Amino acid sequence: MQIDAHTHILSLAQDPEFTTEYGREGSLCIYRSLGLLPSHRPPTEEEWEASGYSRKGFPVIGPDESVRDHPGFDKIVILAVSPQFLDGELIGTVDTYGITGVPGPPTPEKCNDYIAAIAAARPDTFIGYASVNPAYRGPAAAVRELERAVRDLGLQGLKLYPMYQDWSPADPVIAFPVFEKAQELGIPVMVHQAGSTRIDARMEYARPALLDAAGRHFRDLRLTIAHCGLPWVDEAMFMLTKHPNFYAELSYHIASVTTEELLRFLVHAEASFVPLEKLFFGTDYPGFLYDPVKLRAKLLAVNEHADRVGCDPIPQAKLDGILGDNYARMLGLLQD
Ligand SMILES: [Zn+2]
Repeated sequence: MQIDAHTHILSLAQDPEFTTEYGREGSLCIYRSLGLLPSHRPPTEEEWEASGYSRKGFPVIGPDESVRDHPGFDKIVILAVSPQFLDGELIGTVDTYGITGVPGPPTPEKCNDYIAAIAAARPDTFIGYASVNPAYRGPAAAVRELERAVRDLGLQGLKLYPMYQDWSPADPVIAFPVFEKAQELGIPVMVHQAGSTRIDARMEYARPALLDAAGRHFRDLRLTIAHCGLPWVDEAMFMLTKHPNFYAELSYHIASVTTEELLRFLVHAEASFVPLEKLFFGTDYPGFLYDPVKLRAKLLAVNEHADRVGCDPIPQAKLDGILGDNYARMLGLLQD
């Protein structure tokens, strides 16, 4: 089974211009490192246009586009982004162009309704994750929204974004009620516990080790560390060693390494007591450089470097596991 465990859909701000600006801020370092933008001063509008990050034709990804860009995949996990402020603007998953059929004016407050509508229309393809922000209207409101999203809307997991929303996942007052409710509902949780190129994101709340408190208190909670905790990949991997119910997905990390480095990472993970069964393929589609087809090919090509690295090839069943079977087992879609 092939599953992309980390994707997004729709827009991140009601205003398409703002969505473009937001995307440009997060992509600036990538475009600069590729030599597409000047590195010593802010790019001009013309330079942005010439770089390929055009204001015109910035694509809005709906369900059709996501399926088109995931040929051969059986399931696509779509993660809601809960309401949060960026430069005074309320952002989060929003259906700016009304493609989900959710009634009323578009607003990030309905992020879970949008994701649920897409998942309900194609339940064989999309696995919808809710998102709540306990710092937005308080933890009690977040817990109520999570309950509604799972019981009424049928969403199957929860995505959290502490560093973007100015709260710590180790905070017993803010974070624990949300983890507690997720555990009670029996849903898996994915946490963006990794760095971010968004300037206002708080790195002090980003480290994977901040999930240790949740791991100690919520022993039945299935918790996935997004992006392998990049740049603290070893720290994230150690959390997987320590906590039986912790997992990690590869997006962002897999885009930043060569195929040979990916093999070295997998060999090192296993040698550091992280069963490869705890790793999930993910892409962060539709982010730049995060093409599901290319990243899948990279994962499946790691053994071509086994001689150079001087290791045994990774058994195909383990690579297939990372590509989707591991996630399917975690979610209960596949039985052992
Ligand atoms: Zn993401």
